[in-house]
Amino acid sequence: MEDCVFCSIVNKTLEKELLYEDDKVVVFKDILPKAPVHLLIVSKDHIVSINHIADTQENLAGHMVNVARKMALKYGVYESGYRLIFNVGRDGGQVIPHLHLHLLGGKTLEA
Ligand code: AMP
Ligand code: ZN
Repeated sequence: MEDCVFCSIVNKTLEKELLYEDDKVVVFKDILPKAPVHLLIVSKDHIVSINHIADTQENLAGHMVNVARKMALKYGVYESGYRLIFNVGRDGGQVIPHLHLHLLGGKTLEA
């Protein structure tokens, strides 16, 4: 989708170092990290949020969690612990309306 920063990263019109890529997702570092490890697992399709995943895409969120777990292992927070967050909509604090999963770790996160 035009004017979507995450689509631009997926389409590679905006240059970004990708830490992982498969047919469904890309992973890159959050530009304003809130923890020593702060990665974003981003769907390749422009899906606005968890609320907009179609029934035919029901495996997508599970796949994103699975990729996040592998990234946690690769980036050294698997054992120490980490947090996975889907922000959904205005009250959920979602700023970018393109489906993404936050992976945060590398320090003790506040409750
Ligand atoms: P959310 O509030 O869940 O929509 O989170 C969006 C996240 O995307 C924020 O943590 C931003 O720091 C991050 N972000 C926005 N633009 C970029 C970008 N160009 N590259 C990497 N991360 C970004
Ligand atoms: Zn998009």
